[in-house]
Amino acid sequence: MSEMKTTVPVRLYPTPEQAALLRTHCQEYISTINVLVAALDSDVLPEGGKGVSTKDFTAALPSAVKNQALRDARSVWKRAGALGVLPMLRKPFCQWNNQNWRVASDMLLLPLCQDGIVRQMAIRCAPVALDGTPSLLRIKRKRGRWSAEIALTLPEPEPATGEAIMGVDVGIKIPAVVHIIGKGSRFFGNGHSQRFRRRHFYAGRKQLQQAGKVRAVRKSQGKEQRWMRDINHTLSRQIVTHAQEQGVGVIRLEELAGIRPRISQRTARTSRGATARKAAKARKNNRMKNTWSFFQLTQFITYKAERLGMHVEQINPSYTSQTCPACFARNKADDRRYVCAACGWMGQRAAVGAINSARDTGRRGHSAGATVASGSDGGRVA
Ligand SMILES: [Zn+2]
Repeated sequence: MSEMKTTVPVRLYPTPEQAALLRTHCQEYISTINVLVAALDSDVLPEGGKGVSTKDFTAALPSAVKNQALRDARSVWKRAGALGVLPMLRKPFCQWNNQNWRVASDMLLLPLCQDGIVRQMAIRCAPVALDGTPSLLRIKRKRGRWSAEIALTLPEPEPATGEAIMGVDVGIKIPAVVHIIGKGSRFFGNGHSQRFRRRHFYAGRKQLQQAGKVRAVRKSQGKEQRWMRDINHTLSRQIVTHAQEQGVGVIRLEELAGIRPRISQRTARTSRGATARKAAKARKNNRMKNTWSFFQLTQFITYKAERLGMHVEQINPSYTSQTCPACFARNKADDRRYVCAACGWMGQRAAVGAINSARDTGRRGHSAGATVASGSDGGRVA
């Protein structure tokens, strides 16, 4: 397992005077980087700026911050080489490396430059406990609020001692179904209320769009994303806690990239020669699917589980929801029950994906003759 890093967001409450200083620092910081990147690119600073030190350029910043700006400029310039475009930083932010700041209860202590003099200042912040080694501090202003992002290197977790294997399946009707081999399945989240809220967001945006209120549309999108993110944090925490309680050592979930193609295939199949109603339904499905939120949920589960020393495996997502967990035949299930035409296995349809993920049996599947509907929509929890 590689070194684990995380970022802890912390809300800041600077005084008006401190806020003005932070604003100046952020502007100075990005303009310094932009100037340095341009200098690196035009060979004013030769050899990629090797041997350049903070003495070689001026900036109204504490010297450690200047140092960090130089480091940032080098990496921006290197990335620019790969992209072939010279980027221009616009969003104001400023960074301090770990030797220059610390958090003491609800105060962030850091050096700030005021009238050419560097002073240690204390900015009030939300209380935060840092369980890891802090490295970089990033301060930025977004939607009128100041916040800090603290990068932490986490201590290597002890490998989980549990031996149980858990499969996870994400979907719409039931946001997450998990199955622990030998211990059964469990459902997480409320798909009904999520869909209701999402439809509400969508309808609201449609109205705003028609009224030409572009900013309000974007605001609503941001609001929906933050809401969804909160839900995914809660769900992933519940799932990983459940896994821990049940002695799970391995979590298997569908390979993330597998989510997208499935959707596009589905649309492609429906759009040709399908009735208008069917196509509309497919479009609606796509909207409701919100693939990014599935992706986010699996990511959250992954990092939370790995922090507890569990092993996370991505499995081939083909046919996980169609394959019979008992005999690997593929069946299309329309009902809430999944009944295998080949062997008679019966179970809750929503759990089939999680069972197959746990056993990683999906790809071994074979068609069970006439019972497999061609061009089926996967029988996923749709
Ligand atoms: Zn079967």
